Amino acid sequence: MRLAVLALFVLSPLAAVADVLHMKNGTTLEGRAVTAEDAEEFTFKMGSGGQIQVKRADVEWIEWSSAEAAKAEFDRRRKPGTVEALLDAAAWAKFHGMKDQAEDAWLSVLRKEPQNAVANEGLGRRKYQDRWVGEEEYLKLTGHVKVGNRWVTAEEKKRMDEGWEWVGGKLVSPDDVKRSKGLVEYEGKWVTKKEYDELVKKKGANPEKPPDSGGGDRPPANGGGAGVGARPAYLDDRATPDDKLSDAEKKRLHNDKEEAQALAWLGRGWRALSGIHYRLLTNCDDPDPEFDRKFVSSMDRYWWHYVELFEKTPEQKKLHNIIVHSSSATYDEWLKKYGGTQGVGAFGTYMHSLQFSPAILWYRKVEGVPDNARTTLFTGRHEACHQFVAFYVRGDGGPWFQEGIAALQEPDIPYYLYPYRWDYIRLQVLEGKNDISMGDLIKKSGSLDANQNYSRGAATHWFFLHYKDGLYRSKYIQFLCKGSVDSVAALEKAVGVSIDELDRQYREFIREMDIRRDKEEPKWPPGQKPPGAGNAK
Ligand SMILES: [Zn+2]
Repeated sequence: MRLAVLALFVLSPLAAVADVLHMKNGTTLEGRAVTAEDAEEFTFKMGSGGQIQVKRADVEWIEWSSAEAAKAEFDRRRKPGTVEALLDAAAWAKFHGMKDQAEDAWLSVLRKEPQNAVANEGLGRRKYQDRWVGEEEYLKLTGHVKVGNRWVTAEEKKRMDEGWEWVGGKLVSPDDVKRSKGLVEYEGKWVTKKEYDELVKKKGANPEKPPDSGGGDRPPANGGGAGVGARPAYLDDRATPDDKLSDAEKKRLHNDKEEAQALAWLGRGWRALSGIHYRLLTNCDDPDPEFDRKFVSSMDRYWWHYVELFEKTPEQKKLHNIIVHSSSATYDEWLKKYGGTQGVGAFGTYMHSLQFSPAILWYRKVEGVPDNARTTLFTGRHEACHQFVAFYVRGDGGPWFQEGIAALQEPDIPYYLYPYRWDYIRLQVLEGKNDISMGDLIKKSGSLDANQNYSRGAATHWFFLHYKDGLYRSKYIQFLCKGSVDSVAALEKAVGVSIDELDRQYREFIREMDIRRDKEEPKWPPGQKPPGAGNAK
């Protein structure tokens, strides 16, 4: 702890100087730790007001505003001069961005203990047989060669000689290089997507469409008018890049060993089905023998909605697990056993940190809704969105962001035709009941009720993605991925419009959508309820 600096802070809480927390997800927070930042979790008081609990594991490093204070703290830790003190000082310096000091302390350790693993690793050395060597020497010793700026294995070198290229950290075949540049194969030739569409149009064949963007927030490509929204998502025939994969490529991420481990972990009565991006683990007893396949293939297609929504093409290393419990009761019971928060509702909970990092939900069976696979997929898309965000986008952000963006993925019909969420939007925004401003939604989302965060959050994301044909879309996606999502000022800066004006545009947009809804709302067959009906919060 920095007692002197802390005291100063207490005396003048609005002091302009603030420390900067550099989070692993790329965001930064200004303010000051008010409990020991060495602890696994500490309290951080933000310059903009309010305080948050921060997990040290989520922090990349902390930049102290006072270089003198940082230097003094480093010297204090180093002073005893023992190996232990030097290692502690080095780790502390590294965590506070003081690279030179850290290296200096590690070198001092090596003068006392040349084989010390922590110090050697700290200095970027690697162990080869019995000795510690520099990174380059290690790569040479282990049969790597340097091509340009990259060290590669002999096998990789051979492929590169055959025309393979590195794309996003992965060595891909010449054909995949073209695909990664957006080219499409058409009758043996590589053409742009635009050329391809024209060629297909000329030929009069069914044009293949790229995956619809934005998830459940746009009319399905199968049509947009009344009634067609009722078409189940797994029957969606839009093309995705996966359609071009060979059967072997589709199984690239299959892992029998992990599947067996997951099933052993879940216990009796569970089964698994591996797809291209997702693995379903379930013990539900849907009467349709095709349930598993439909669920997995629909989720596999939906993967591409997440990819487009966040403009990220992640390198997927493993199948993502989705656990579907047979009922809310078994779900609650199971979560209790594994230390989760039980009873949080139909959408289950997202448990990224749990073994196998599964998205967890339960099989939705709603009286009056004939298709349980479809209803369950509403939840599946929501939970898998949390999973995608946690793996590839960011770990922080208030509920308006996290739950809002997940709720937006739920329906397989246009958002304004989704009664379960839209009724609430209508009530708030159009009828003024329990209404809230856009600024308050963002600022206060930690203390709002679930409907405000889920429904309003989703409608807010939806507005930014689609207002005036996507006027804010790309700036907003940047903001979602890298900005301070709980800061109104950051949002205003990201899209270049004041919050009051954004709030006005949002309300205008909602009114327009509500008029569309009145025109397009499907008539549900007698005895049937709209999809998503009966979903709890
Ligand atoms: Zn959620």
